[in-house]
Amino acid sequence: MDINELLKKENLKRHEIIYLLGLSDEKEINLLFDRADEVRRIYCGDEVHLRGIINFSNYCEQDCLYCGLRKSNKNITRYRMSPDEVVEVAHKFINKGIFTIVLQSGEDSFYDTDKIAYIIYSIKQKADVAITLSLGERDFEEYKTWKIAGADRYLIKHETANPKLYAALHENQKLTERLEHIRFLKEIGYQVGSGNMIGLPNQTLEDIADDILLCKEYELDMAAFGPFIPAPGTPWQNKKPGDVLLTLKTMAVARILLKDVHIPATTALATLDENGRIKGLKVGANVIMPDFTPSPYRENYQIYANRKCVKDNPDDCRSCLQLQIESIGRKVSNSRGDSLKLFNQAN
Ligand code: SAH
Repeated sequence: MDINELLKKENLKRHEIIYLLGLSDEKEINLLFDRADEVRRIYCGDEVHLRGIINFSNYCEQDCLYCGLRKSNKNITRYRMSPDEVVEVAHKFINKGIFTIVLQSGEDSFYDTDKIAYIIYSIKQKADVAITLSLGERDFEEYKTWKIAGADRYLIKHETANPKLYAALHENQKLTERLEHIRFLKEIGYQVGSGNMIGLPNQTLEDIADDILLCKEYELDMAAFGPFIPAPGTPWQNKKPGDVLLTLKTMAVARILLKDVHIPATTALATLDENGRIKGLKVGANVIMPDFTPSPYRENYQIYANRKCVKDNPDDCRSCLQLQIESIGRKVSNSRGDSLKLFNQAN
């Protein structure tokens, strides 16, 4: 296949995506990365959006094989932040120039419909920020209530588009159900982010191509592709981590195909590679999601081992990232960074 021709195509077919993911020649890989960077510039510009994550609880009712928060992991210290504490932390970072707050937790029904609605409403009352929820699978009625309370976005990764692999990873959950949640969330007006893990045991390049195609089919507003990292205390603690280069290739192909979606340079990528964030931003990414969970909670949100930036002072996070972003000629966005699809549809 002629790589230059392929990279110019408007729409890539499944076999072409697989071919690009399998590239091994350095020159060709660099052509792929350069094209992804160009598509990012055309569709998203040079701004990088910072989404501040508050991991407010690490209790989880699920038992996913890969995740350190799984309920049968007895080796982590569990915590819950009070709703008022979450609101206070959110406002502290909003005052430092953060325009999206991501409220993330394990699947923890202790935070019922009202508690989450209270947090959303209290944050929104004082500031014009976007709120993303990442709480796992909840009742459809709750999604509606939280939308009315002011939530803007929902992050719910599909983890893998291979239904058999999905069923093997999750004790009681099915891919079809996950996809129903994604469809419903879109239907009622959430901007929806999803994505996969790369390097899951037995995962193939075909599976990863299907992950990218799924993001297109569901017209997602954000698509996150991050490497799997073994988590201590899980059945998969001794598995191999995902490959950094394959993650970068996936992000690049996704950018070329999905065009105007938001793509983050994930913390998992930065955990496996010191320069992961910068490398990600250069191959299609336009979002970074720093962890603003306060100590002593932060070090206990152990979805996997040695998570990047867990020990640094969160107060410095924004300026540290700003320096890195500006060092490659990009700039930190001063807006909420809503879905580019909304903007493109309106025009
Ligand atoms: N309970 C929420 C959020 C879970 S944490 C939910 O179910 O959506 C957010 C993400 O962390 C997960 O969706 C998963 O993609 C990622 N994650 C969990 N364990 C991981 C691991 N071992 N390596 C890499 N990513 C992991």
